[in-house]
Amino acid sequence: MLKIKNIHANIESKKILRGINLEVNKGEVHAIMGPNGSGKSTLASVIAGREEYDLTKGEMLFEGEDISEMDAEERAHKGIFLSFQYPIEIPGVSVTNFIKTAINETRKANGQEEMKANQMLKLIREKSELLEIDRKFLSRSLNEGFSGGEKKRNEIFQMAMLEPKLAILDETDSGLDIDALRIVANGVNKLRSEDNAVVVITHYQRLLEYIVPDYVHVLYDGKIVKSGTKDLALELEEKGYDWIKQEVSSL
Ligand code: ADP
Ligand code: MG
Ligand code: MG
Repeated sequence: MLKIKNIHANIESKKILRGINLEVNKGEVHAIMGPNGSGKSTLASVIAGREEYDLTKGEMLFEGEDISEMDAEERAHKGIFLSFQYPIEIPGVSVTNFIKTAINETRKANGQEEMKANQMLKLIREKSELLEIDRKFLSRSLNEGFSGGEKKRNEIFQMAMLEPKLAILDETDSGLDIDALRIVANGVNKLRSEDNAVVVITHYQRLLEYIVPDYVHVLYDGKIVKSGTKDLALELEEKGYDWIKQEVSSL
């Protein structure tokens, strides 16, 4: 599904990613871990096509198609979802209306007709029940006064409704409380399927107790320095990131 070959990326001409290789197939969950500042969020942004980041070298294929020149919107329409795509507050626009617009824009970009109102309602009902989202929440203004947990709920609801092929969840801050963590984990687990793939980015092993990844990669100083199975996350929890630093410096 996603094939990344030797990508290098800069922000404001500062080198951040220095040769990343990554292959994500349908049905897989990958976790990307690594110390603060190692380039995890940069990698997520580069895959999603945020324009602040310059891809200076390498190849990025999504379902066999070169996406490196596409803008973020185009990539989203192809089925790449990055969490916190829409962290903005929009007073007067409800969670539901926002997602309706996003769905119909995606359909339009893919040459499909708008979703019929009754079909949309059915989808909303189905997904909100699956994720145990209160109907009242859906009529609230987007992100306005949302708590951390509510922001997560909104993000996971967007993901569920858009049914992306590849979801990238960047759990940026350490501020995630246990409730928010469970919301994300339950959502991902319920939406995992043979046809989609998830990349979870996290600084902490904690989230991976709830979302069990097929592969774990450690990003350090802009490179993936180690890959393994879920056991690697446990090893990191036990030994900390200094262990990786020592291994890398002894190479
Ligand atoms: P992580 O998500 O692993 O904590 P980031 O990808 O956020 O790492 O950051 C990697 C490096 O890029 C850090 O050294 C950070 O300071 C730098 N960086 C990130 N965003 C910017 C920016 N907008 N301008 C300048 N430097 C940045
Ligand atoms: Mg950081
Ligand atoms: Mg980050």
